[in-house]
Amino acid sequence: MSESLERPDVVLPLSLSARARAAEALRAGAARGDLEATLGEVRHDWTLAEARALHDLPFFELVDRARAVHRQHHVEGEVQLCTLLSVKTGGCPEDCAYCPQSSHHETSIEPEKMLDVGEVLGAAKRAREAGATRFCMGAAWREVKEGPAFDKVVKMVEGVKELGLEACCTLGMLTPAQAKRLKDAGLDAYNHNLDTSRDAYGSIISTRTYDDRLRTLAAVREAGITVCSGGIIGMGESIDDRCMMLVELARMDPQPESVPINALVRVAGTPLESLPPVEAVEFVRMIATARLMMPRSMVRLSAGRSDMSRETQLLCLYAGANSIFYGDRLLTTPNPDVSDDRGLLDDAGVRPMSPRP
Ligand code: SF4
Repeated sequence: MSESLERPDVVLPLSLSARARAAEALRAGAARGDLEATLGEVRHDWTLAEARALHDLPFFELVDRARAVHRQHHVEGEVQLCTLLSVKTGGCPEDCAYCPQSSHHETSIEPEKMLDVGEVLGAAKRAREAGATRFCMGAAWREVKEGPAFDKVVKMVEGVKELGLEACCTLGMLTPAQAKRLKDAGLDAYNHNLDTSRDAYGSIISTRTYDDRLRTLAAVREAGITVCSGGIIGMGESIDDRCMMLVELARMDPQPESVPINALVRVAGTPLESLPPVEAVEFVRMIATARLMMPRSMVRLSAGRSDMSRETQLLCLYAGANSIFYGDRLLTTPNPDVSDDRGLLDDAGVRPMSPRP
């Protein structure tokens, strides 16, 4: 890590625990009218020290602050429902250590041929009827290549838009010209996750660089498509790595409109299959910290929900998550049943959000 954990101008008593020290750092900042006073503002100059000061707050204090910022910027009681469909499954040449679709790992996922436009639009229609407002199409590609497959994706995007849904794609790396073509087809959002911090990235993926990812996000932004970018926790990274990933995202100007926070789904055959599960409190901390650092973004409670209790998911919604993946599969990994999710949203007193114009 290149940044110091503590602000050099804040001297803290050594006897305090790490969490109390973080709270104290926040209050010390408040006394000078900086971090505390700026909570709720969209800022692009976040530091690791500030992110940790928030992340490490006593749990209730963190959740209270995140809740307050959430209510400042978002309509109370609304959640965006996104359905994610794999339009080209498996056989990916990238070596992402968490991914069962990578051809580098021996998993139960077999490469499949790309879905037809009609199949995808049928699934989009069913997703709309079930209440989804955003439909995301994923392809296990390293990058988009010009040709029939990309032409099909363009038709899928046009069809999804005709159904009145927000359209999102996740297709790997993208050039500025390809981003423009997707924009012209009506694409609303492009997902390309940072996955983790720059420092931890090399232990997760070797076939493309962090800067490759940032270049794709720049091409998406330049084309006028909104950015969906977040990451995964539970891949063996440190708390600093988690916070640094949020710093990278929050420093973007504009910040990503959508920030998916995923818990690792430990799939047999991937190099990360034996890692311990993410603790519920740690996951809620990430959601709340993302909400505080990116006040206007949609923070999406993403992969890993199948392994979470209803109570954890409710806490995430309370702490600032306002988007979920909806539908019984997430690309190739399981997701809660639609009926269970309906019950969850009813219990939380939240209703599905209308599609954005
Ligand atoms: S995460 Fe995406 S790019 Fe990485 S291996 Fe899986 S499908 Fe390929």
